[in-house]
Amino acid sequence: MSGLFAAILLRQAGWQADIYERVDVGLIGRGAGIVTHAEMRAVLRAAGCDPDRDLGIDISQRRTLDRSGRIIGEHACPQTLTSWDRVFRMLRAQCPDRHYHIGKELQGIEQSDAGVIAHFSDGSRATGDLLVGADGFRSNVRAAVLPAVKPVYAGYIAWRGLVDESALPPAVHADVFEAMVFGLPPNQQFICYPVAGRDNDLRAGHRRCNFVWYRPAEEATALPWLLTDADGNFHALGIPPPLIRPEVIASLHEASRALLAPQLDTIVGLTLQPFLQPIFDVETSRMAVGRVAIIGDAAFLARPHVAAGVTKAAEDALALVEALRGHDDVATALAAFERARIPVNRRIMQRARELGGYLQPHLLSPDALAAAERHHTPQAIMAEIAVLDFLKG
Ligand SMILES: Cc1cc2nc3c(=O)[nH]c(=O)nc-3n(C[C@H](O)[C@H](O)[C@H](O)COP(=O)(O)OP(=O)(O)OC[C@H]3O[C@@H](n4cnc5c(N)ncnc54)[C@H](O)[C@@H]3O)c2cc1C
Repeated sequence: MSGLFAAILLRQAGWQADIYERVDVGLIGRGAGIVTHAEMRAVLRAAGCDPDRDLGIDISQRRTLDRSGRIIGEHACPQTLTSWDRVFRMLRAQCPDRHYHIGKELQGIEQSDAGVIAHFSDGSRATGDLLVGADGFRSNVRAAVLPAVKPVYAGYIAWRGLVDESALPPAVHADVFEAMVFGLPPNQQFICYPVAGRDNDLRAGHRRCNFVWYRPAEEATALPWLLTDADGNFHALGIPPPLIRPEVIASLHEASRALLAPQLDTIVGLTLQPFLQPIFDVETSRMAVGRVAIIGDAAFLARPHVAAGVTKAAEDALALVEALRGHDDVATALAAFERARIPVNRRIMQRARELGGYLQPHLLSPDALAAAERHHTPQAIMAEIAVLDFLKG
């Protein structure tokens, strides 16, 4: 996503920009729910997309359920909920096919005063004045220019899944579907909200319910158990959904029955392919080294509670292009870009850490855990999660 934003905006600014994507098939059809913010719409508009047409599902309410399924809090919070696939398709349509190269896995970088060369695993290479590393939190670009920066496991995982709206029993649909709904088991957080159906279908009855359930998982014991496939391979940075072992899925269902409101347990039970993501922090001290910039999750991976992944990727790309427009040489422009974006990204990281503190009880002191618990009440959760107002203050 950050690569598409950057390439589209760079081309508009007069650069000749090409995207090199590792995956050798189109990425259309992937991903789950994304929370939108006004800032994200603004950059979509700048990139030539129309975010006011069919971006997603508008909701107005947040709601918290207790263990018995009773509503224990409601909060007005108008928001548009979209899907990764919807935003990806909008951006992909703005990028001509001849400048979007799939099956190109970046393996190495060479740079000099004259330019930068990207080397790909198929033996090909590309040269340019600037290389933008928009290759996600496991970034090879970051590893090449800032090898000390590594993802740090936060101590908890997120179970995720999608259920067709039509599969939900009417009573569950009425309680949870057209709202952002929370459940708050001890040291855990469950959240669900509606997203478009397949092929961005926004018609009532054809949408999907997206859930995310954050649960502590100790690094030395629980994590290897969760992320090891049936052949004994440990997928430390994330396990492909089809490789999750049946007993791990069974443990999800068992916990869901024991800990969640009946409506939320129904959603988990109806999910055909739940998937699992360990939560990491990535925080870099630099966003540019020579002729290489890094943006999006490659530079800063914030925990999902601020729901800022796509928004901050978009704003990184916009700031990069504005800096390049405002300066004649790449080095001065990249220095201005870093000055603009590092403080904002640090604030996003810090806020996301605060909101997720109570999900890592085994890593916090009793005092720090007690302080973190103030974000674990229905009132706090409904007012704070996925709201970027703190950036303005
Ligand atoms: C398929 C997919 C689905 C997602 N679904 C969701 C979702 O449902 N909800 C949500 O909140 N967030 C989702 N995300 C994450 C969200 O898109 C990011 O937080 C946000 O877009 C900012 O990340 P990014 O664009 O910087 O990096 P990413 O989105 O991680 O994209 C990085 C891209 O770089 C490519 N890449 C990686 N290494 C190399 C390499 N060596 N050479 C060439 N290319 C490389 C990857 O294939 C990927 O396309 C998803 C990401 C992906 C890739």
